[in-house]
Amino acid sequence: MEGLWSEELRKTFRSGRTRSVEWRKSQLRAILKMLEDHQNHIFNALLQDLSKHPIEVYRDEIGVVKKSANYSLSNVEKWMAPKKGQIPLLFFPSRGEVLPEPLGVVLILVPWNFPISLALDPVIGAISAGNTIVLKLSELAPACSAFLASTIPLYLDHTAIKVIEGGPDIAEQLLQQRWDKIFFTGSPRVGRIVMSEAAKHLTPVTLELGGKCPAILDSLSDPSDIEVAAKRIAGGKWGPCSGQACIAVDYVLVEHEFASILIESLKKTISRFYGGSLENLKNLSRIVNKHHFDRLRNLFKDPIVAASIVYGGSLDEKNLIIEPTILLNPPLDAEIMTEEIFGPLLPIITLTNIQQSIEFINSKPKPLALYAFTKNETFKKQILTETSSGSVTFNDVMPQFLCDTLPFGGVGQSGFGRYHGKYSFDTFSHEKAVLHRSYFLELEPRYPPWNDFKMEF
Ligand code: NAD
Repeated sequence: MEGLWSEELRKTFRSGRTRSVEWRKSQLRAILKMLEDHQNHIFNALLQDLSKHPIEVYRDEIGVVKKSANYSLSNVEKWMAPKKGQIPLLFFPSRGEVLPEPLGVVLILVPWNFPISLALDPVIGAISAGNTIVLKLSELAPACSAFLASTIPLYLDHTAIKVIEGGPDIAEQLLQQRWDKIFFTGSPRVGRIVMSEAAKHLTPVTLELGGKCPAILDSLSDPSDIEVAAKRIAGGKWGPCSGQACIAVDYVLVEHEFASILIESLKKTISRFYGGSLENLKNLSRIVNKHHFDRLRNLFKDPIVAASIVYGGSLDEKNLIIEPTILLNPPLDAEIMTEEIFGPLLPIITLTNIQQSIEFINSKPKPLALYAFTKNETFKKQILTETSSGSVTFNDVMPQFLCDTLPFGGVGQSGFGRYHGKYSFDTFSHEKAVLHRSYFLELEPRYPPWNDFKMEF
């Protein structure tokens, strides 16, 4: 069955229809129309899958996709245009150009945590570049998966874009086929599987993975700066999907003397944003399922780790809710400090000197995002030159994701390849080198028979 889908998509691609700017724009407009018409369905689906608040859904799912679709609509024609390539004088007269061409039939694999935006954002890139697409949704967000699978074919060109529901078994079958590109968002564990399957066909891959994103908090003297930093850390940790986000803060690094000021500020912020106790919690997504709930519970089951909890720690197993939880100096060899947390637990690690944060970060795999709250320009420079991460954001958490003019992607274990805005277009395109030569001016020394004169030339 899947074989037939990819055959149909290949046929559509070969017809050339998806290459026209009209087709690309019509599909981008169709995505916008679908979001307009079905906003309430999307709110409901995310309420069912993750109990996300509609404002969060609008901000992180609908709004993000609308922004990307509008940005591509305004720019796609410019991106498609061939660019002039400078040609050495030796080849005069000639003209060079770099021509972006679609890759062909692409496979997009989607995670569950932002099941609408992390499905449609790469689709926008693939459409903008003129590809046909198979979109495999996440089985762990079934309401969103069912919504997209039933609605996308009503709006988008179903001979060019196929939507598939299912879990690892379906993904494994899809990975057996030949694709012109695989775009994967998910865990490093599955990323390895995707890459090894792709290698069999020499298929290029983009891997958008996860990891432990650190936040460095330099000692700030102004109380209003501390308040802003606490709000931004709390909003970026518990705000989007209760910490189940690839670019959520995983842990904070701070000097010993500053830890209590930070913890007090975070406590106040948490109770203002999310309510003061487990019974009164509001505005927080739930943990996606029992498996992940247990995984997170196990991260602080060890008595030594549990003893490091300075705030929160309560659980509501029935509703899969974990209270925002802060831990102070859990053991560095505990799983909470060696594995991606992907949930509402925030370890704070204290250092004698904030400069040590660089060595600390460098002792771990390269993160997807690095956050640093500091006004010290020398320290900023040091962070930029002495650490490696997918992105660095100073004095905030997350807005880098919303900037279409910045590439989004990881490095090392947090993945490779990048997307958003023009970078998405490039990710799903091949830049073809084109050289136009003339019959005029034939240089004989380039041809045999070789002789001394040609040697001198
Ligand atoms: P996952 O790797 O378990 O699943 C991702 C996709 O792979 C799903 O479609 C799933 O069905 C499929 N899959 C699962 N097992 C498979 C297998 N054995 N073979 C083939 N396909 C398989 O990831 P997840 O739990 O959905 O998402 C959480 C992870 O994703 C975290 O590590 C997080 O950091 C990362 N993530 C990264 C980004 C990013 O933009 N870099 C965004 C969101 C999530």
